[in-house]
Amino acid sequence: AKTWILRQHFEGFPKDSDFELRVEQISEPKDGEVLLEAIFLSVDPYMRPYSRTRMKEGDVMIGGQVAKVIQSKNPSFPVGSHVVAGLGWRTHGLSDGTGLRPVPSGWPQDIPLSLALGAIGMPGLTALYGLEEVCQIQPGETLLVNAAAGAVGSMVGQIAKMKGCKVVGCAGTDAKVSYLKELGFDHTFNYKTITSLKEALTAASPDGYDCYFDNVGGSFSSVAVPQMKQFGRIAVCGSISLYNDTVPQTGPFVQTHMVFKQLKMEGFLVSRWEHKNEQSLLRLISWIKEGKLKYSEHVTTGFENMPAAFMGMLKGDNIGKAIIKI
Ligand code: NDP
Repeated sequence: AKTWILRQHFEGFPKDSDFELRVEQISEPKDGEVLLEAIFLSVDPYMRPYSRTRMKEGDVMIGGQVAKVIQSKNPSFPVGSHVVAGLGWRTHGLSDGTGLRPVPSGWPQDIPLSLALGAIGMPGLTALYGLEEVCQIQPGETLLVNAAAGAVGSMVGQIAKMKGCKVVGCAGTDAKVSYLKELGFDHTFNYKTITSLKEALTAASPDGYDCYFDNVGGSFSSVAVPQMKQFGRIAVCGSISLYNDTVPQTGPFVQTHMVFKQLKMEGFLVSRWEHKNEQSLLRLISWIKEGKLKYSEHVTTGFENMPAAFMGMLKGDNIGKAIIKI
């Protein structure tokens, strides 16, 4: 098996020398075990903050993959079946079945299995739960989402449109902004080329925002929170603008706005609603089949290119989900 190791903890933005490619021998599966071969691997923003809290130097990089069972001594996972596995950045791995999720039955023939890492996987579920459970979004409301052309953001905007909302989204390139328009977002802008974020947000929705799905945090939120309406809800999904900081950013602070507008701000992890995943994945599949949810993938070919794909995703190379194809 080939693996990518965290050679040394990231300091600031990750660099090539932080990673090391290793080859390791894998033994035959024992009773109850399966041998898996990765087909698609995922690179996600959480790997950056989790590298500090969940990994030691020398560990295999954490992450999910879609894998094929190539040897099996576990009747629940027959040879040839496909699973979503959290085996990290590795081409092959052994599992005793714990934490393996079979690709949902009824997976449409014409839809790539890589979507199990994106629109019909963790990012799609994040969008759904952030909107339904955290924002408790209602028809007719106005939603703001940033990193809107990414894996989570592109699903957030589309699901909110399906629910009858007005959706404002922003992203970091003009090509991404065009994609948001294709997806049916009502107002879009490139946050890197505008002169004032405050003016862009006010122009897009002069009355303010009922819900704010925040993927970015930091100074973006310092400007966005004061634009909320009374009793607005903020789903704090991620703060990618802070993940590579070596010196913590400070204010301006938003607490006064939170008080006088009586806002609710809630951080969440997609895993909180794991008990709903089976049913939620079926909902996502049916929306994809019906053409109500569109998806895009930024596919990098070759396991050896994983660090480059990871760093590219952090920089914003991807429209939709960043995927590695073996
Ligand atoms: P994306 O596919 O959106 O990829 C990351 C994107 O973030 C880039 O393409 C880039 O787009 C944008 N970005 C990078 N740096 C900055 C910056 N400094 N300011 C603004 N935007 C930036 O990733 P995901 O959809 O997988 O994740 C989006 C967010 O959701 C992340 O914060 C992630 O941590 C979080 N998340 C949280 C989960 C949870 O359970 N709470 C689960 C999954 C994801 P652009 O060109 O637009 O700048």
